[in-house]
Amino acid sequence: MSRSFDVVVIGAGPAGYIAAIRAAQHGMTVACIDKWQNFDGSYAFGGTCLNAGCIPSKAMLESSELYHRATHEFKKHGIVTGEVSLDVAAMQKRRAGIVRQLTGGIGGLFKANKVEGLVGHGKLLAGKKVEFTPVDGDPEILEAKNVVLASGSVPIELPFAKFDREHIIDSWDALELDAVPERLGIIGAGVIGLELGSVWARLGSTVTVLEAMDDFLAMADRDIANVAAKDFKKQGLDIHLGAKVSATNVDNGTVTVTYTDKAGEKTLEFDKLVVAVGRRSFTDGLLAEDSGIALDERGRIIVDEECHTHVSGVYAVGDCVRGVMLAHKGSEEGVMVADLIAGEIAEVNYDVVPSVIYTAPEIAWVGKTEAEVKASGRPYKTGSFPFAASGRAKAMEQTSGMVKVISAADDDEMLGVHIVGPMAGELISEAVLALEFSASTEDLQRTIHAHPSLAEAVHEAALAADKKALNYINR
Ligand code: FAD
Ligand code: AMP
Repeated sequence: MSRSFDVVVIGAGPAGYIAAIRAAQHGMTVACIDKWQNFDGSYAFGGTCLNAGCIPSKAMLESSELYHRATHEFKKHGIVTGEVSLDVAAMQKRRAGIVRQLTGGIGGLFKANKVEGLVGHGKLLAGKKVEFTPVDGDPEILEAKNVVLASGSVPIELPFAKFDREHIIDSWDALELDAVPERLGIIGAGVIGLELGSVWARLGSTVTVLEAMDDFLAMADRDIANVAAKDFKKQGLDIHLGAKVSATNVDNGTVTVTYTDKAGEKTLEFDKLVVAVGRRSFTDGLLAEDSGIALDERGRIIVDEECHTHVSGVYAVGDCVRGVMLAHKGSEEGVMVADLIAGEIAEVNYDVVPSVIYTAPEIAWVGKTEAEVKASGRPYKTGSFPFAASGRAKAMEQTSGMVKVISAADDDEMLGVHIVGPMAGELISEAVLALEFSASTEDLQRTIHAHPSLAEAVHEAALAADKKALNYINR
């Protein structure tokens, strides 16, 4: 007899495992299937985020930042060290340890919440049946009252720069390099390209980033992107905008990249080339032909606002559906879907999903950019505050950047907050809460902020929107 569950989730990344846990918390019987296999052959829950994305990248960003500070900034603080040297193997061991702990933790969470974690491949059949093929056994059919598809995404491969895992590599390979490449090329100045470029540049690589678009960080507010571009240049990241890569060739361990910019065709040589041109929804082997699930023109599973597919009782969440490819967006969709299955009212507020780029300085924003507000025609006001005027930022020796608040001129509603500077990824949470609660600028202005804190910059930027900044000259 086949096993049956109230909910079967396929994929245990941040979208799937969170959906599974929340569904189990509602008292439902839940199974969560995942087939993720690491380079060392081990299987692990956690998906891209925990194994090859958010977590290992942040571990490497932290280690490389500390190395950079030790070699470039300690002196300023009056700290004299001997020669600071690099042990990439130890750095990678720390990264792997963090990943192992967190992915192992999901197994513990599954146990505690009574989610059945199944290691293997899941395939949606017709009639809400799921074929589960364990990594070491025969296929089994699971009956499900509800199915949640959370199969995530994979790196986009360029036809003229095929991954060989040695010289032309993806973001996962780039996080696990065992030595610092002398010349590192990166195609794509998006979030992933910039984070990886920062890691290896701090550790000593000469990094060149080739970006097809003319605008740097086109999705960010222009004021913020301009500050970041200057800082990255100072750090030695050589970012070529308007540079479209059209060919690569690997010969004798050297990757030759051909690209075209305004001046014409050029070539560059690298020891490693990271292709970071975005990710695509991953549904290979996920859907039986008669499953009834439809994909859009970009291969994403088609869902409505509530992440329901065309098939009643089948949902899809995270990177495999429309919207930004961010872990927290997927997790919130997972929570929403589990709550909806349990009969509760639930929704995701897609207008207030924060974005963070974990470079130094960090970049973070929520809500609309100034260009978007301008285009909407709504009258608006802006206020900004530079970290150079923040006591805490000065004490940290991290004064580059600013906070910018954009608010409606008519009813004072906060429309967007944009930060480039120290701990921007942490600071943005206050702005997310403000936007989620439809705060007015005055609400934030009247909120007490601890002194001295970086968060005071958010407070002062809100004050500046009404020319009431207290620690900076209003303009
Ligand atoms: P995934 O995490 O991709 O998980 C999908 C899972 O489904 C995988 O484990 C896969 O093995 C499994 N699966 C797929 N098909 C099947 C099947 N048929 N049967 C069984 N299992 C299957 N986002 C952030 O928010 N913050 C960050 O700082 C951040 N940094 C990133 C850095 C890098 C280098 C990368 C690559 C990504 C980063 N992201 C970040 C994006 C983030 O990783 C994704 O948005 C997130 O992992 C999406 O979650 P998901 O659950 O939808 O999919
Ligand atoms: P993201 O989607 O944020 O990960 O960013 C990927 C970036 O890669 C985008 O900014 C694209 O413009 C860029 N890109 C895609 N194809 C190419 C190419 N052939 N040459 C250079 N940049 C590219």
